[in-house]
Amino acid sequence: MMPVVEKADGESHIFRKVYYNHLKDFLFADLFEGYRHGHYLWQCGICDDYFFMTTAHKQLYCSTVNPKYGVPCSYVAKHPEVIDRKPKQQKKTDSPHYLLWQRRYDLIRKNKSLGRYDDAVSAKAKEYIDSCFELAQVDFEYAFTQYEKDMDMTNVYRKAMEMLNV
Ligand SMILES: [Zn+2]
Repeated sequence: MMPVVEKADGESHIFRKVYYNHLKDFLFADLFEGYRHGHYLWQCGICDDYFFMTTAHKQLYCSTVNPKYGVPCSYVAKHPEVIDRKPKQQKKTDSPHYLLWQRRYDLIRKNKSLGRYDDAVSAKAKEYIDSCFELAQVDFEYAFTQYEKDMDMTNVYRKAMEMLNV
């Protein structure tokens, strides 16, 4: 290990150049470097991967998106129902939020054919319910608390109008 002074844009910087004979040595050094900065290794209780705990708070689960559930492990931990409910590959029609989306989509099409709303507004309304549905798929908090409220037709058309004005 030796300090190296290098010039970058006229400024002097002190770098450390470190040589390792084995990858393992580097990994150990990196690990202790983490310890030195107050981070420590922790095994995620959901995916069993190790991660560096970097906050003062007890962070029991990693915040990496868990490929199995499509949301971070820390989220899965807060919502244990996710593990039971979410199938491996969820189809749109399998979603518990699909029925409401379908009903809203039918209404949008009906209102359009009755001439209550023009094509532009209807298209934006569809775009909006699609985005709500997508969000409900990945954000369980949103799905449980906000999804239905957002999917209220008055709100849907209000949002559609707002989107057109922008
Ligand atoms: Zn994890």
